[in-house]
Amino acid sequence: ATPTALMVGTGRGAQLGVLIKGPEVLESTRTIDTIVLDKTGTITTGVMTLVDVVPEGGATATDVRRFASAVENGSEHPVARAIVTDDPAPVEQFENVPGLGVRGTVDGHRVVVGRPQLHGGVLPVGAQRALDEAESAGRTAVVVGWDDEIRGVVVVSDTVKPTSARAVSELRALGLTPVMLTGDNERAARAIAAEVGIDEVIAGVLPHQKVDAVTELQRQGHVVAMVGDGVNDAAALATADLGLSMGTGTDVAIEASDLTLVRGDLRGAVDAVRLSRSTLRTIE
Ligand code: ADP
Ligand code: MG
Repeated sequence: ATPTALMVGTGRGAQLGVLIKGPEVLESTRTIDTIVLDKTGTITTGVMTLVDVVPEGGATATDVRRFASAVENGSEHPVARAIVTDDPAPVEQFENVPGLGVRGTVDGHRVVVGRPQLHGGVLPVGAQRALDEAESAGRTAVVVGWDDEIRGVVVVSDTVKPTSARAVSELRALGLTPVMLTGDNERAARAIAAEVGIDEVIAGVLPHQKVDAVTELQRQGHVVAMVGDGVNDAAALATADLGLSMGTGTDVAIEASDLTLVRGDLRGAVDAVRLSRSTLRTIE
């Protein structure tokens, strides 16, 4: 394509709410065959709500929520925002463990909130059952413990964006294979994937493993676009052949991407691919 045509395409993109970093970006979408989609905040709204608090081992639901809320007040994660109450207790020695959860000291108790791995060891039967049930329903369950005992499970739920399923089927119609990539657990991820028509799911990955997942697809010979919104997605967005960020996402993700979807949903990815194809077709 001529520089002029690419400039025109870039301008047209701006009208569609697709902000393109440089004219050459349009050309790189040409051979994309795989589109990797982050789950939380990209396919889903990323606004989580608290669904259930299941106490364990003699703890009360009130205490589980109170301790979890205090520690999560130090986190910006969507899970944290669902758990924090209006008036959280103060926390000391707060620690964020990316992709796993948080730790902190509340009223002299050492509190841990996050994925089962963060607690080490096996979960009590009741907690495991609560976790299984929540995850099968596509929800995210985090385990709460203090003083080295599991004290409960908090269940949060996210909602699929109303535009996601249609956009996924349009991306398929454009010849792209959608793949979901998430740090969330496999069962919840599969439930959400099924809702929007995605068959391939890479779940339970730690933030640094998101890059590895993209690299692996490239090694298999795929040309990969990646759509994401989070701090955790930034490296993968930069590694992908084409990185697309949500305009509603974090600054780090936006900076790492080639293209920003202003409307903050997957319809923008469809527009971007169509735009690039029509731009290249008209001038070759
Ligand atoms: P995603 O890829 O969906 O954005 P993350 O890598 O941010 O997911 O997180 C993966 C998982 O780690 C979450 O589903 C949750 O179980 C756990 N987790 C991350 N941060 C927190 C937190 N602040 N509190 C509790 N659990 C967390
Ligand atoms: Mg996200």
